[in-house]
Order: sequence, then C-alpha cells, then structure tokens
Amino acid sequence: MAPKGDNVVVPNMKLENLLSMKGGKGASSYANNSQAQARHARSMFHLLKETLDGVQLSSPEEPFVVVDLGCSSGTNTIFMVDAIIKHMTKRYEVSGHEQPEFSAFFSDLPSNDFNTLFQLLPPLTNIDGGSMEECLAADNHRSYFAAGVPGSFYRRLFPARSINLFHSAFSLHWLSQVPESVLDKTSAAYNEGRVFIHGANEKTTNAYKKQFKSDLSSFLRSRSKEMKKGGSMFLVCLGRTSQDPTDQGGAGLLFGTHFQDAWDDLVQEGFISREKRDSFNIPVYASSLQDFRQVIEAEGSFGINKLELFKGGSPLVVNQPDDAAEVGRALANSCRSVAGVLVDAHIGDQLSEELFLRVERRAANHAKETLEQLQFFHIVASLSFT
Ligand code: SAH
Repeated sequence: MAPKGDNVVVPNMKLENLLSMKGGKGASSYANNSQAQARHARSMFHLLKETLDGVQLSSPEEPFVVVDLGCSSGTNTIFMVDAIIKHMTKRYEVSGHEQPEFSAFFSDLPSNDFNTLFQLLPPLTNIDGGSMEECLAADNHRSYFAAGVPGSFYRRLFPARSINLFHSAFSLHWLSQVPESVLDKTSAAYNEGRVFIHGANEKTTNAYKKQFKSDLSSFLRSRSKEMKKGGSMFLVCLGRTSQDPTDQGGAGLLFGTHFQDAWDDLVQEGFISREKRDSFNIPVYASSLQDFRQVIEAEGSFGINKLELFKGGSPLVVNQPDDAAEVGRALANSCRSVAGVLVDAHIGDQLSEELFLRVERRAANHAKETLEQLQFFHIVASLSFT
C-alpha cells in the first residue's frame, strides 16, 4: 500500500517553532553530516582571528562573553567556541591584562537538539584551582562556563550591553519564514512547481530577497542592543557569485535539482498532490555580497572591517568519489540533515523516507556531475561595534 502522509506534524506551525537540523547521532544527523562545514570554518580561521584581535579586552571583574548563534548540535560549535576562547586567553596573556572568566552561550531555535550538544561538551576545568598554562594545555576540558539559549536570532536573546563577541556560522541564510506571497496561490509570487527559488520566477525570488533583507536588518538591530561597546561580530553564511538571485549557486544545486526532481517523482507517482508540493518551500536565501553590504550600511549600527565572498567547496564528504552509491548517499544525507525536519513535518516520516530514497537514487545516477558541480560560496563578515 502506498505510504500516506498521515503522521504529519501541524503543517502550519511557525518556522521558528519547527526548524532544526536533524538531531541525534544517526546517519542523517547534522552531527554526522557537518564535517564539510567544519572544514570550511577552519579554512576561514585566519579571518576569525583578525576579528578576535580587534575585540576590546574586558576588565577582569567582568566575564568575557562569547555567543554562537545558530550553534546546532554536534562538535562544530564546541570546536569554534573553544578556539575563540583559547585565542582570547592568549591575547590577555600577551597584553599583560589579568584574565577574566569566560562564558559561552550556545544559541539556536528551541527545537534544536541541545541535549546531544550538552552531552558533547567537555567537562569544566577546575577554574579556581588550575594555572593558566594548565587551562590552555587541557585539551579535553573547557575553560568557560556554558549555557544554552533558545530563541530566534531575528529577535532579542540577551540583556542589553552584555556580549563581547558574536559568532555565527552557516546559519544566517535561513530566513525567519517563507514569505506569505510565495505560498499564496493568488499571488504572482506563488512558487508554482518548485520547492526552492533556484530557477523560479522573478517575483518569487524578489519576495525571498525582501524577506532576507528585512531579516538581516532585524538580526543586526537586536545584536546592536546586546553588544558591549568595543565588541565584534564574525558572520559566515551562504552567498552566491551570480548577480541574478534565481541562480542560488551551491544551495540551488542542493535544493533545486535532485531534491526538486524527487518531489516531482512523488507527485507523478501519486503520493502527493501538486498543491502539497507547491506549498513546501526551503526557507534559505543565498545573498549577493552587494545586498549583504547594503543591509549592514542601511541599518547603520556596525562598522565593516571585512566583507568577502569566500570559496567554501563541496558540502559532501565522500571517501570514494568513484563510488556512485556513496555519492548518492552523501548527497541525500547532507540534504536530509538540514531539510529533513521540515520535510517530515510537511509530508510525514514515511513519505519523507520515500522522498530521500529518490534523492539518493537520482544523485547516484548523476554522481560525477553532482560531485563536480556542488560548490558553496560563503559570505564572511567581520563587524565591529563602537
Ligand atoms: N553553526 C553550526 C550549525 C549551522 S546549521 C555549524 O557551523 O556547523 C544552521 C543552524 O541555524 C541550525 O541549527 C538552525 O536551527 C539555526 N537557525 C536557523 N534559523 C535560526 C533562527 N532564526 N534563530 C536561531 N537559529 C537559527
């Protein structure tokens, strides 16, 4: 019997109450499919260090507070926070300042798998007892107090003037919502026949662009209230090289080819209606550098130290590039680790399983092109608050 979408989670739930990367430690979890992000983050580490070198050192009576926004679940966020605090500790040492205590907030939407993240956190070093050398040497310990903060980064998350450094990697391309007009059958922006804006009509894409700009502006406004004077922000998110927003680059290939075709398969095979497909849209927007800059300048709270488009490479981690089946699995898992929760909520777990099987099969049939063409570019922004 054909699987039915009968275990669908409330379909009209607000995105911020639903969105998360796939939790846990399974084959399609984010924790197990984010090695490429880790690699890309490491390749930009010199830029992060430049930002850290510009942060004003706090006085020893106050903690130095670091926030990772859109931390997800897995070791990437822990690695970055650890590296940030180690770098700042060295700066305090070199400058002869007394070391402050460090505190780190891991922040994401409420459905994020904070449990898995907290279990991965190394134990706290004996902050009162150990010397600074011991702290720096203690690889399997953390030298900072940790806490989780649930909520959307498009709104306020922290008290005013309480944060020294905001870090956010691979998160700001997620919109706060799919624009209403894109879901409205009577609107010219209705995204008929598609589940992403890659190759969509201009009206649809413009609605996404408008949403992105207004979201980024809200993000900056909230952070400008929360940041201490002299603080800095390091942001990395998906960007695109093309001027044309209907060409979404790597994100376009991830969500606009095999994933799109697999949705069409479900329609053609009679599993779902066209309307069901058309009411699903991936709420991701890869911005151009120009648009990103324009929002920062128009919002006006932050100075731009650096704003670049950086070649990230492929999101796929494949041991044997000649093994088409492995490439198919890697693409399906990668897609599922980021969009699986939204797909499950829209058509239910069983149909979602069918969908990703088709993604896997289609990607395996086009393994060579998939590996060659899937390349991500990232916008990297280093901003300061004076
Ligand atoms: N920073 C991690 C994870 C990136 S995955 C890394 O480098 O690997 C993107 C994360 O952004 C997801 O966990 C998602 O839930 C989060 N996210 C998306 N929209 C968000 C929002 N409005 N507020 C907070 N987090 C959000």
